[in-house]
Amino acid sequence: MEYGYTFLVTVISVAISLLRVELSRLVRLGCVLFVFGLGAGVRPCLLHARQVAITIDDLPFADKASCDFEETRSVTRRLMEPVQAQKVPVAGFVIGERCGNLTEEQRRDLLRVWLDAGAELGNHTWSHPDLNDTPLPKYEEEILRTDAELRGPLGVARVRYFRAPYLHDGATSAVKDWLHAFLAEHGYREAPVTIDDSDWMFASVYGRALDTHDAALARRVREAYIPYMQSVVEFFERRSVEVLGRECPQVLLIHASRLNAEMLPALLQMFRDRGYEFVSLESAMSDSAYRLRDGYVGRKGLSWIHRWGIGKGQAVQLEPDEPRWISDMVKAQR
Ligand SMILES: [Zn+2]
Repeated sequence: MEYGYTFLVTVISVAISLLRVELSRLVRLGCVLFVFGLGAGVRPCLLHARQVAITIDDLPFADKASCDFEETRSVTRRLMEPVQAQKVPVAGFVIGERCGNLTEEQRRDLLRVWLDAGAELGNHTWSHPDLNDTPLPKYEEEILRTDAELRGPLGVARVRYFRAPYLHDGATSAVKDWLHAFLAEHGYREAPVTIDDSDWMFASVYGRALDTHDAALARRVREAYIPYMQSVVEFFERRSVEVLGRECPQVLLIHASRLNAEMLPALLQMFRDRGYEFVSLESAMSDSAYRLRDGYVGRKGLSWIHRWGIGKGQAVQLEPDEPRWISDMVKAQR
């Protein structure tokens, strides 16, 4: 009986000590998992926000019909207001001859608004030719003429990015290689785009609504714009993971339009709400993704995420379309 009692006490105490060990192991394991979770999962999400570089094309102004100097200057200042106030790094791509009804000095004044707001200016050719249909010597001239304008009268010390109109950068390997060699020779890098969207279509309908004082249409465009842009951003976040295994720093393309002068604060907020911080084009392009092979050769202007996917042998999935009523109205305007 006594032996049985001792045995029972021993079994219970061993069980308790084992349980303690197990409990302490569990607690330790829990701690390890918690710390590991903080270290490997949670903390990086908090420390390393999503990143996006904002790039704006067709400077000094994309709405062709409205190149009145005073109006364009006031809209440009409005567009640059959140850029300056929120210290958002921006790269703007200049078309040398844009707003041809203005004097050269007026065009430069508009571009100085960008420089004063801290924007970096890049080269987008002289007259926005399509590389698919332009002889190479003419295309060279187009790049060099805008280069001279930026470095000369505007006094921009560092011009280092070139963006091909329509993102057309060579329908054949020979033309693509020629373009990149020409750019390198003149100290340029091609500026990629990952978030490729149709903001210009919304801007076209919006401009028309403003010109015809159609307040209801203008409101309809404003209300549809951010949800559409968000659908495109979500798409490229997902494709980035599918193609690269992670979300790379993105490069957004939008245009210098009255629509974006009105909507840029809301657009920036949409990115912030999705956990983004704004970085320079240089910072985004320093990510290793931008050294991947652009596997696309052809006549289309594609997002670099599609190009990297093609380079890895993946099928292209195209981004969401703009709402049908927007594309119908753009067609009807032509
Ligand atoms: Zn353009």
